Amino acid sequence: MEVAKNKKDIRAYTKEQLRLFFESQGDKAFRGNQVYEWLWQKSAHTFEDMTNISKETRQMLEDNFVINHIKVDQMQRSSDGTIKNAVRLHDDLIVESVLIPTKTRTTACVSSQVGCSLDCKFCATARLKRMRNLNPDEIYDQVVAIDNESRLYFDRPLSNIVFMGMGEPLMNYNNVIKAIDKITSPEGLGMSPKRITVSTSGVPKMIRKMADEEVKFKLAVSLHSAIDEIRTSIMPFNATFTLADLREALEYWYQKTKSRITYEYVVWEGINDTQRDANALVDFCRFAPSKVNLIEYNPIDDGDFQQANNAAIEMYVRTLEQNGITVTVRRSRGKDIDAACGQLANKS
Ligand code: SAH
Repeated sequence: MEVAKNKKDIRAYTKEQLRLFFESQGDKAFRGNQVYEWLWQKSAHTFEDMTNISKETRQMLEDNFVINHIKVDQMQRSSDGTIKNAVRLHDDLIVESVLIPTKTRTTACVSSQVGCSLDCKFCATARLKRMRNLNPDEIYDQVVAIDNESRLYFDRPLSNIVFMGMGEPLMNYNNVIKAIDKITSPEGLGMSPKRITVSTSGVPKMIRKMADEEVKFKLAVSLHSAIDEIRTSIMPFNATFTLADLREALEYWYQKTKSRITYEYVVWEGINDTQRDANALVDFCRFAPSKVNLIEYNPIDDGDFQQANNAAIEMYVRTLEQNGITVTVRRSRGKDIDAACGQLANKS
């Protein structure tokens, strides 16, 4: 791709800004709407593609702007149908996104940062240092790429999106919100926000902000332990964002949104596999309607963490159910291509 330092990234412009730009050029403001539609709804990769715009105008755009599109560098398909995309950004950094098909759904798992701001000990992405936040268009493009793959390989459009790829979405909040706005807008993909889940390790301040903004998407929290000492040992940022702060923010979220909270939780041998751990989880989440997803551990090369045995999982399921908390035990998908939770780390 041509690198032109003085050219501006046209997808950083709002529709209104594009309208003003065309007016300032002595053209009609409406031209801004047309270009905006090409950029977002039609995902045009070049100005050349914009066939209802005159040749001269296309050349003028070419001279002043770039369209920084992502490129799917490599696509891997798992034996269970899962697809992993290695996505090259305009500055040659790479992130990964995953398409997860089930009988009734196709879910896109997208990245929000290159690397991650956090340092969870069990996660492969945490080993990469955080390089930068993704722009709204880079998040949007991952979704478009997966929607296209879903239509091509599974004959149906994408049905759900989870922000569970690389990065901590609430540490790139503004760009994630802008991307979701485009994804849900009729001028973008027109998807319902109810089909979108933002997953966070728990940044209390941002959870409050989301509650204040009355966002319509769903919230998932990667909890893994409801005991501070244990959580801090596996998720060190918990020393700063403690469980008490997180819990208060979640109470606030529930008061404002009345939206059920999902918790992601892995049970590891010798770390959080006792009755005391399960009881603490119940105490943490019973203030609001909650669902706990017990997720399978996907080993990342060293042996510090090991999935707990079935008896421990059953103990969790029993304890949660006895206390009226919905619980599901989830199997991982795409493990053979390192596409499962916590395995995204640019090995490809
Ligand atoms: N930073 C956000 C988004 C990442 S989501 C968050 O923490 O929610 C990725 C999910 O996979 C999180 O629930 C994370 O805790 C979980 N995870 C990370 N490493 C894992 C591993 N090796 N096996 C299973 N789940 C893992």
